[in-house]
Amino acid sequence: MALIKCPECGKEISDKATACPNCGMPLRLEDRGTYDIIITREKQKFLVNPKIKVTVDTTNKYILEKNGSITIPLTTGSHTILFSSGIRKTQTNIDVTENMNINVQFNRATGEIDVSGYKTASQTNTPNISIGIGGGIFKGGN
Ligand SMILES: [Zn+2]
Repeated sequence: MALIKCPECGKEISDKATACPNCGMPLRLEDRGTYDIIITREKQKFLVNPKIKVTVDTTNKYILEKNGSITIPLTTGSHTILFSSGIRKTQTNIDVTENMNINVQFNRATGEIDVSGYKTASQTNTPNISIGIGGGIFKGGN
């Protein structure tokens, strides 16, 4: 038996425990209601492909490379995702209830970053959301 630190209260507990005996925090991600949020950068033929920084809940930072994809485990509930590249930035809120896919691409016309294909696995009628970085454009129902 090994000892691990509880991610909630920091107390040392058995790695065999399903929940922290001190604070009750479930130790398995599936028990916490955690889902995979997959953010994919759509393939584009640009000479210049600046990195897109992805900041989740103001603290967790990721880099979305050219043609790249990142998977972020998030607990059930509301989360903030900030996309930025240089001075361009925009933010979206997602309500996590299951695994979700989000597509990101640079808008050729404006140079802004579009966030689209925002959907959950069970949605058959996918809302299409486009958020222009800088302009704050928000479209729905495409
Ligand atoms: Zn604990």
